[in-house]
Amino acid sequence: MFKWFGKVNYTPYTKVTDFARHLRNGRLMGSRCKKCGATSFPPRADCDTCMSEQFEFSEVSGKGTLHTYTKIVAAPTGFEDVTPYTVGVVDLEEGGKALAWFGESIPENDIEIGMEVQVVPRIFEELEEIKVYYSLEQPGTTWSKAEVPE
Ligand SMILES: [Zn+2]
Repeated sequence: MFKWFGKVNYTPYTKVTDFARHLRNGRLMGSRCKKCGATSFPPRADCDTCMSEQFEFSEVSGKGTLHTYTKIVAAPTGFEDVTPYTVGVVDLEEGGKALAWFGESIPENDIEIGMEVQVVPRIFEELEEIKVYYSLEQPGTTWSKAEVPE
């Protein structure tokens, strides 16, 4: 019983914590299955190819092409102040998709499906809880990353 309890609760908790730590350090992480090598973004604790639970985080570049986008005019609660805003779904170079807001480096009129973009993790520093979102910027955009001790 306790073993089962620990497996269900403890494991996902630590996995999420690791992901948050990487994001806080400016790193965009996907996951790679240790058994079959399949990669996914967002990271998955369980491989959808071979069902293995053995995975490791692998950093993704954030480079991708715009799959689709939409302008949000009627925002959900909490986002009213920032409307209208535009979000896009990106096909990442390493595979997988990311949902992100358009950053200031890409004017609305320049947005085009199929364009190359850079996904950049952003953090609201002033908040104690980790609040991360992704923004879409011009290809080649760089940002600071902390060293990650392995
Ligand atoms: Zn697998």
